[in-house]
Amino acid sequence: MIFTVKALVFVSFLFCIVSCQSQNLISKTDEKKNSISNDTLFVNLKEYSQDFLYDMKYATTDNFLNAKVYDCAECFLRLKTIRALVEANEKFMEKGYKIKIFDCYRPLDIQKKMWEIVPNPKYVANPSKGSIHNRGGAVDLTLVNGSGKELDMGTGFDFFGVEASHDYPTVSHTVKANRNLLKTTMISSGFNSFDSEWWHYNVKSGLNDTISNTKWECK
Ligand SMILES: [Zn+2]
Repeated sequence: MIFTVKALVFVSFLFCIVSCQSQNLISKTDEKKNSISNDTLFVNLKEYSQDFLYDMKYATTDNFLNAKVYDCAECFLRLKTIRALVEANEKFMEKGYKIKIFDCYRPLDIQKKMWEIVPNPKYVANPSKGSIHNRGGAVDLTLVNGSGKELDMGTGFDFFGVEASHDYPTVSHTVKANRNLLKTTMISSGFNSFDSEWWHYNVKSGLNDTISNTKWECK
């Protein structure tokens, strides 16, 4: 009888180990699932940080389209892109700089509108393929100094010429250093650079997300 009780206790103990471990696994899996689903959400950058400056070019006519294609200026991105961007900005702030944003997530309808105005893949991504901007993983930006003045990057935003390329050889030392600061910090925070546009950065694995037409409300 004593042996049976001992055996029962032992079996219960074994069962507890297995079930407790499996409960732990379930909760970890759920946690993982939740963080993945959270990562697909679009969120507004200003709700996560007040340390960015904005010049949302496509919410004005001051852009290469000469057209205002957003009803209002907001910077929505997927949560993982926002986290990487905030991390990058913290690193810049330690050095006395801040990020100024030109464009963020771009709903597919806006991409179509841009394509209607300039149907040239050299300047606008074809909406039938979409871009990482349409996936919430791309951001266009520059850096400003402590007085809010933009650093010299050699060309303006959306300058379509070889001079805007990271590898363009005949830029000044200052421009080279500024582009390099931007690029190395963005890469170390989870982004990839885009060779022909010094201002464009894609969050790593941004191409894995789906193209979206989610729109934000203008207040
Ligand atoms: Zn871009």
